[in-house]
Amino acid sequence: MVVKSEHTIDIPQQSFPTLLFGSPEDVLPNDKPYFLDHVKPETHYLTRHTFRLWSQCFAAGLQKAGLNKGDRVVVFSTNNLFYPVVFMGVIMAGGIFSGCNASYTTQELAHQIKDADPKYVLSQGGDAMKTCLEAAKRVGKGHEKRTFMFDSRYFALGQPLKVQQEDQDFGRPHWSSLIVSEAEGGGFAWDQLMGPNEAQDTVMALNYSSGTTGLSKGVEITHGNYVANILQYNNSMCQDMEYELKYRSQEQWLCFLPLYHAMAQMIFLGVSQYRRTPVYIMEKFDFLTVLKNVEKYRISHLQLVPPVVVMLAKSSEVKKFDLSSVRSVGSGAAPLSREVSEEVEKLWPKGVINIHQGWGMTEATCSVLGWDAGKISTSNSVGWPTANSEAKIMSLPDEHSAGPTASEAKEVGPNEAGELWVRGPQIMKGYWKNPKATAEILTPDRWLRTGDIGYYDNENKFFISGRLKELIKVKGMQVAPAELDGVCLESEGVADAAVVGVTINGQEHPRAYIVLKDGVEASKSTAERITTEVNSKLSQHKRITGGLVFVSVLPKNPSGKILRRFLRERAQKEVQRE
Ligand code: AMP
Repeated sequence: MVVKSEHTIDIPQQSFPTLLFGSPEDVLPNDKPYFLDHVKPETHYLTRHTFRLWSQCFAAGLQKAGLNKGDRVVVFSTNNLFYPVVFMGVIMAGGIFSGCNASYTTQELAHQIKDADPKYVLSQGGDAMKTCLEAAKRVGKGHEKRTFMFDSRYFALGQPLKVQQEDQDFGRPHWSSLIVSEAEGGGFAWDQLMGPNEAQDTVMALNYSSGTTGLSKGVEITHGNYVANILQYNNSMCQDMEYELKYRSQEQWLCFLPLYHAMAQMIFLGVSQYRRTPVYIMEKFDFLTVLKNVEKYRISHLQLVPPVVVMLAKSSEVKKFDLSSVRSVGSGAAPLSREVSEEVEKLWPKGVINIHQGWGMTEATCSVLGWDAGKISTSNSVGWPTANSEAKIMSLPDEHSAGPTASEAKEVGPNEAGELWVRGPQIMKGYWKNPKATAEILTPDRWLRTGDIGYYDNENKFFISGRLKELIKVKGMQVAPAELDGVCLESEGVADAAVVGVTINGQEHPRAYIVLKDGVEASKSTAERITTEVNSKLSQHKRITGGLVFVSVLPKNPSGKILRRFLRERAQKEVQRE
C-alpha cells in the first residue's frame, strides 16, 4: 500500500532566492540579525537586507569573473557567517553550489573536484588550503589557479581586506576579491537569469552522497526540490498552531551541523530564513560550546544527530547549563533509540520536550518522513510522509541474486519489513552526469529506492529497522564502503577487500575484511601496517575503527558483487565476542 501524506500544500514554482527575498528590489528589513556569528553576534551578523545585498554583490562578482549559468563552485570549508552568502550568491548567479566535508583528505577532495569540475573552488586557509591545492593539482585542468581563500575573517562590504601572511603563503586571492561594490551589484537581478518555470527544473546544488552503492556521486538538487522541501518541513512545524502563534517570533536556532550536508543546508539556510528565524552559526561542533550557546542565546530548537543526543543523555556537564529556553528537539540522519530519547527528555520538566525523529536522505533534498509538531512520539518511529509526499515498503530482494530490479519488488502491507521507497517533489533530479546510477535508484515513475529497511504500523507511522544498502553512517556522516575497499586495495599485499559497518556501543564503525596476496603473512603487524596506511588516506570519520580481519575469500554472488549483508552479520557476531 502507498502511504500518502495527510497534508497537501501549494508549492509555488519559483527560484530559491525568490522564495526567500521576493524580488531583487523589494525593501527588506535591516534592523534584525538573521545570521549571527556565535562568537561576536553584536557586530558580526547579517540582516535580511544585508544577506540579500552581500549575496547579490557576490553573484554579480562571480558573473563578472566569468561564471556562467550551470557552472559549479566547490566550497571546502567549515561553517562561517559568510557561508550562507556564498551559497546564495552562487545560486543567484545561476551557478551550482557544491559543498564538501571540511575534513576531507586530498584524495577525497580530488574525487569531488574531478567529478563536479567547478569553475571556482573556495577553500578555508591553513592545512585545508594545502589539501585543496594538492587536490586541485592532482585533478589538473588549472583548478588550483581558480582557487580562492574562503575563511571566517569578517569584513565590511566595500572595505578591502588587509592582506595577511597566510594569503601570501598560499598565493591565492581572498574570496572577497570576487565581491563587487554595492553600487555595481546591489540590484543584481537573479530573476532575469531564469524564469519561475525554468527554475523549477534548474539544478542549484550538487550535494555528494554514495546513495545505495558505489562511490560518492553528485546529487542534483533543483530550485523546485529545495523550495518544496522548505515548505514541507515548515508545514510540519506549523501544525502546532498554539506554538506558532505564541512562540514563533521568539525562535532562535543554533547551527553546529556542517552546512555542506543536506540536513544543515536545508534547515539552516532554507527553512530558518523562510520562517524568519535567527541562526547563530558555529564553525563546527563542540559539545560544551553548544551547551553554553544554548544558555547564552536562549536557543529554542535543537536539530540534532544521534551522537549528539547520546552526549546529552550521558554527559554530566549538561546539568550545569540552563536549557530552559529549548521548546523542541529533533533528530535525524541516523538511527536513534527511544530509550536514549527518553533519557534526554528528562533534562526538562515532564512533558516539555518530546524528541521527534525524522528520516531523510541527500537524494531527497533533506527530509521525507517526520512528525508534525504537537504530536507525541512514544516510539522510535520516524513519522509520516511530509506534505505532498508518499512512501511505501517493497519486498526485499533475494540476497543471492545480482540485485533486485524495480519490477521484481512488490508492495507489502503494514508491519511487514521491506525496502522503503519514497516519492515527492523534493526527490532529486538525478545523479550528476551519471544516468546509470540514476536509473538504479530512481524508478521511471520517480520512486526513490532508498536502500533502507523499514515498515509502517497500523497508524501508517514509519520505522527504520535496518539497511539494505552498503552505506555506513559514522556520527551522522556518510562513509561509502566502496571507497574504503578501494583504499584498502591500494595497500601492499592486499588482494581483495570489503569494508562493512559494525555497531559497537550504539555507534557504527567501519570494519575491513582483507584477503592477502599469496605469501603475505596474516599477522598483527600486517594488520597494523594496513590499518595505518589506509587511515592516513581517509578523513577521521571514515577510518577503520571497527577492526581489520583477514579472510581467505570474500562472500560474493555469481556476478562478483560483494555480499555485504553476510559480512555485516558476521562482523556483528564477531564484535560481540571480542
Ligand atoms: P544522508 O544522505 O547522508 O542524509 O544519509 C541518508 C541515510 O541516513 C538514510 O538513507 C538512512 O540510512 C540514514 N538515516 C537518515 N535518517 C535516519 C533515521 N531517522 N533513522 C535511521 N537511519 C536514518
